[in-house]
Amino acid sequence: MKKNFETILDKVIRVGLYIRVSTEEQARHGYSIESQKARLTEWSKEHNYNIVDFYIDEGKSARTKLSNRKELLRLLDDVNDEKIDRIVIWRLDRWFRNVADYYRVQDQLEKNNVDWECTDEDYNTTTSNGRLYLNIKLSIAQNESDQTSDRIKFNFENMVKNKRPISGALPPGYMVAGEKQNKRVVKDPNLEQMAIDMFDKYEETISLSATTKYLNETYPFRPIAYECVKKFLKNPIYYGTYRGVTNYCEAYISKERYDNIQSLLLKNHRKNNRSTHIFIFSGLIRCFDCNRKMGGSIACRKHADGNVIKYGTYKCCKHFLDKQCSNNHTINESKLENWLLDNFIKELNNYIIETEKVDEKLAIKNNINKIESLNRRLDRLNDLYIDGKITKEKYDLEYNNIQEKLNIEKQCKDIPKTRDLSKYKTLLNNNKFLDIYNKLKGENKRKFWYKYIDHIIQDKEKGFIVFFK
Ligand SMILES: [Zn+2]
Repeated sequence: MKKNFETILDKVIRVGLYIRVSTEEQARHGYSIESQKARLTEWSKEHNYNIVDFYIDEGKSARTKLSNRKELLRLLDDVNDEKIDRIVIWRLDRWFRNVADYYRVQDQLEKNNVDWECTDEDYNTTTSNGRLYLNIKLSIAQNESDQTSDRIKFNFENMVKNKRPISGALPPGYMVAGEKQNKRVVKDPNLEQMAIDMFDKYEETISLSATTKYLNETYPFRPIAYECVKKFLKNPIYYGTYRGVTNYCEAYISKERYDNIQSLLLKNHRKNNRSTHIFIFSGLIRCFDCNRKMGGSIACRKHADGNVIKYGTYKCCKHFLDKQCSNNHTINESKLENWLLDNFIKELNNYIIETEKVDEKLAIKNNINKIESLNRRLDRLNDLYIDGKITKEKYDLEYNNIQEKLNIEKQCKDIPKTRDLSKYKTLLNNNKFLDIYNKLKGENKRKFWYKYIDHIIQDKEKGFIVFFK
């Protein structure tokens, strides 16, 4: 857009050469800074311009805000300081890809009688047709810039179609090999067996936790989390398909086997989600190591006849979640229940005997302490009366008061106060305890144990130690 100001015609025109290139453009189209620089220099020589400076915004995309295009701002400063008569750019999209920004800057240029031109495109903004053309070009450029991210996406899809790896982590058993254009996803010899074992173990146990545990024990150099095993088992790359592209890489399993595993995962998921199992000891078992309540979880075992058996277990969450506790034991619910039914009466008997002994001792000790204390008060009262510090009336009143209390405590000596053990005694006297228990269903079994037991701790020698309420 050349303006034929007389001042410009009379003297050598001073130009500012503006260059912009984004990282992506540089990589994709070779719009390098050097080639733009060469073109602008050549152009300036041809037209006998006086080059004031190069203004180079490197790594700035067309989306970059004006305020972040530092060199453009420096150029505008020089425009305002009247150091420049004309701005030369390679193509319009180097200058602006946004209609609004273009007119904001254009306004400033016109105030300073500065115009601009492109070396490789021709614009004439002195006619309405020329201005319309410019607006259309700017709009197209803006639209193109919006589509850049779509193009990157498209490019990735193309790479996948050509079986070339794109950035992103690969699941265990795969790695990238080869150079540049020949890069391919291949089997990783170090983790090949791990990938095979992952599928074998899952099919064998139908348990994600058992599979995770096995993999971590067998391949400690490649730690793997429960959630990752679940994710990997669902990854179609293992049957050679990636982003819908078949034969993308060498497969570990067939599509049929993959589908079968997906249905097992789904069943397993459903089972856990609508688990009807009632953990009859939930909240009652404490970890012998960290003293936390052990959490209930469903375990599955494949029986010889092919049926899957589901059963309740209890584990220390502190160990199984973050290994902060060393207790890696799993308590089988039915084993604990059987142990309790075999040992409950014996344990309860011991508890009653021990409690009564302790309570008696405690009560006697309490009683003796109180009698001693009252006797001391009586001694002090006598001293006060003898010394004439209190009247006969006051002495009599206080003396009777203390004596009365002493009489009560002396009577109590024979009947120690004990904890109420009646509910345990009633249970012990009931011969049909086992019969009644066996008729109970899950929820009522839980209520039964909650009524009597405070908590249970696993014990190496005895099996378990029961703490009654
Ligand atoms: Zn623990």
